[in-house]
Amino acid sequence: MSHIVVDENRCKACYLCVKECPKHLIKVSKDKVNKLGNSVVEFDDPNHECLGCAMCATRCPDLAISEVYRG
Ligand code: SF4
Ligand code: SF4
Repeated sequence: MSHIVVDENRCKACYLCVKECPKHLIKVSKDKVNKLGNSVVEFDDPNHECLGCAMCATRCPDLAISEVYRG
């Protein structure tokens, strides 16, 4: 199964990754704030739809999507 890892403390809350994911698997957290005070993003893939395409990681300007596993 493909999935991503978000390095939450690097996230600047621009949400470009949210718009970029073709499967809409990245959501803004309702309750999680990082040490910069930003509402971070969360990978939410209950139906295992992630393509491992890395479009989210490529789009992130702060390299906060630190790993993409293709499975
Ligand atoms: S693109 Fe990067 S910095 Fe922007 S919200 Fe997504 S993980 Fe955070
Ligand atoms: S790897 Fe592709 S499908 Fe998976 S979360 Fe990132 S943009 Fe979405």
